[in-house]
Amino acid sequence: MEDKELHCSECGAQIEDTYFKCLDDCLIANFFDTDKENCFCSEECFCKYMSLEELEIEDNSINVTGQEEV
Ligand SMILES: [Zn+2]
Repeated sequence: MEDKELHCSECGAQIEDTYFKCLDDCLIANFFDTDKENCFCSEECFCKYMSLEELEIEDNSINVTGQEEV
């Protein structure tokens, strides 16, 4: 068995040629125990792993808290 073999940490797909890797020290410390886990087949998989979500701007989110009207 070669330990060169890499798999995407999100979907498990085997990495053939190129892969995506997070290079941010903070994220690496928080998300990855080993360097092997820091390996993704696509940006999409990386975003899923990082819990990136697309949200819509809500109309009611303008409500600023902390300042009460008297
Ligand atoms: Zn993947």
